[in-house]
Amino acid sequence: MDGMTFNPSGEWPEADALSYDDGVKARVDHLYERVKDVVTPMEWPKFAPVIDAILRLKQARGATILAHNYMTPEIFNCVGDITGDSLKLAQVAAEAEEDVIVQAGVHFMAETAKILSPNKTVLIPDLEAGCSLASSITGADVQRIKAAYPDLPIVTYVNTSAEVKAYSDICCTSSNAVQVVEAAARQWGVDTVIMIPDEYLAKNVAAQTDIKILTWKGSCEVHEQFTPQDIDDLRAAHPDAIILTHPECPPDVMAKADYAGSTGAMAAYVKNQAPAKAILITECSMSDNVAVENPGVTFVKPCNLCPHMKRITLTGIYDALRDMKHQVEVDPVIAAKARASLQAMLDLPKADTPPAFDTGKDAVAVPYVAV
Ligand code: SF4
Repeated sequence: MDGMTFNPSGEWPEADALSYDDGVKARVDHLYERVKDVVTPMEWPKFAPVIDAILRLKQARGATILAHNYMTPEIFNCVGDITGDSLKLAQVAAEAEEDVIVQAGVHFMAETAKILSPNKTVLIPDLEAGCSLASSITGADVQRIKAAYPDLPIVTYVNTSAEVKAYSDICCTSSNAVQVVEAAARQWGVDTVIMIPDEYLAKNVAAQTDIKILTWKGSCEVHEQFTPQDIDDLRAAHPDAIILTHPECPPDVMAKADYAGSTGAMAAYVKNQAPAKAILITECSMSDNVAVENPGVTFVKPCNLCPHMKRITLTGIYDALRDMKHQVEVDPVIAAKARASLQAMLDLPKADTPPAFDTGKDAVAVPYVAV
């Protein structure tokens, strides 16, 4: 059989037995045209047979692949069925018709997919694909916060474990954080909300709203590395570039940017405004994936890789589909409570385009919760 060597029992071969033969070339080489600016000709013969095998195996398993914006371009552009930021992936996971979901993203995203689709099989290629934000807080921490502040709503970033979501009142993403904070305050009739666990997202949201915010000392290990000096240096080296930041960056970084928003908002900005040159202050692969969609835009890439996102590889996705591993399970009681927090977010009206953060707002004090 062309494209890959099957053993007589019909089992799928090991990934390293896949070869770049004429069948593979005929089936998937057209995809190279899409990624040729971000995948080198030397890399393609290594990627193509695995991409081909994943596309076939995906059909055989009745699976859909959710690919986050931080996936490498050969995953995002060549095997991802649904691509985007965590809000979009969470919504689509709930609506997907396929029985099997492969999460090309980190563990909390796979848990979210399982919570919203409890009857589907959710696979993650690498169980160790974690997140510094998710590991900064536990369900027990949230219970302690709740006990200390029973009258305040807890707004929890989706970059958290199922247990943390379960003990929270409503989830948010970087796309809808301001909207969720304001909706929670309105619903509870309070002027203060607790927003966990990303202190920088909380501070950036606080600058956009009159609602007072208490937060937790968590941060994204990728975005916290950017400094105001980095932005000054980039601005000096590329005075013609538009600088876009993610709201997980520290506020003094965001204040120096031209635009700030979620990964979805950044992608929409580049698409709609078509700047000649853009600098995305976020995870490395995002620039590659936005570049594929916007060939007329030159990207400068200040590179901070997420080591957790980079654990997800083409070979890992292939192995996950071949062996139906690693299946993500969430305790049904925890899942039901976490689903309520996610659903409270998903029930809010959706913006047509992801909103931007106003980078000109003054910083405001955002204390940590006292627990
Ligand atoms: S980029 Fe940051 S927030 Fe996203 S998974 Fe990596 S560590 Fe977590």
